[in-house]
Amino acid sequence: MSDELAVSINGADKVFNQGEADEVAALSGIDLDIQPGEFVSLIGPSGCGKSTLLRLIGDLLEPTAGEVTVFGRSAHEARMDQDYGMVFQHAGLFDWRKVSANIELPLELRGWSKADRSTRSQEMLDLVKLPDFGGHYPRQLSGGMQQRVSIARALSFEPKLLLMDEPFGALDEMTREHMQIELLRIWEETGTTVVFVTHSIPESAFLSNRVVVLSPRPGRVHSIIDVDLGKRTEETREDPAFFATATEIREALRSVEVGQ
Ligand code: ADP
Ligand code: MG
Repeated sequence: MSDELAVSINGADKVFNQGEADEVAALSGIDLDIQPGEFVSLIGPSGCGKSTLLRLIGDLLEPTAGEVTVFGRSAHEARMDQDYGMVFQHAGLFDWRKVSANIELPLELRGWSKADRSTRSQEMLDLVKLPDFGGHYPRQLSGGMQQRVSIARALSFEPKLLLMDEPFGALDEMTREHMQIELLRIWEETGTTVVFVTHSIPESAFLSNRVVVLSPRPGRVHSIIDVDLGKRTEETREDPAFFATATEIREALRSVEVGQ
């Protein structure tokens, strides 16, 4: 169906340790729709529930109340159908496997033949601009390169949805800016839908079509900011419209902090 939503979250609550002394209301009344092909960022203060929300979408957690659908099915069915890839702050590569074998792992689990796996991992290495690194071990790569391998692995089986939790949080500023450009290029080339958690205001402004600002305790959608900066280039970072967007996000975050 062409009008199908990539993600639809309706009245989702998440309470950890419900009924216990250490009960935490992490999310409350979350409503959010994401269109296919969108790039949506989740931003908010530490502990506001960004990772929890991403995990609900990815079926790594179940909502306490409400509903999460991914391409018209429950998040659980979407996970069974292997509709999404995930990338975290740490690349999470297996040290004892070469780079190509790391990228091939999800394909191995899906029963791909050796020849198909090898063709695909080379395509993915080309996509993330590491064509000659398949035979290296992860420890021989820089942090930014490892993170590119992690993205290659997540995209290897062409997921319709890419869930990313502060994937560039551990990188230095210049590597991070380079990775943002690379990610946008891959996003354009593959047409995948991206949900991206960050606590960086410029990062959210630079990458997204929409920025969802969450307020804490319990996490709620405070506001959603539309971003219209056209095709991003390095020049975008110096564009007054980019600063205006960052300011809008910053002001929303400030009002979140003071509880408005
Ligand atoms: P963020 O990613 O925005 O920093 P999280 O989604 O990780 O926030 O956490 C939201 C809240 O839920 C925090 O108060 C956190 O301590 C709590 N929380 C997260 N995961 C768990 C868990 N597995 N058990 C209990 N509490 C949790
Ligand atoms: Mg988090």
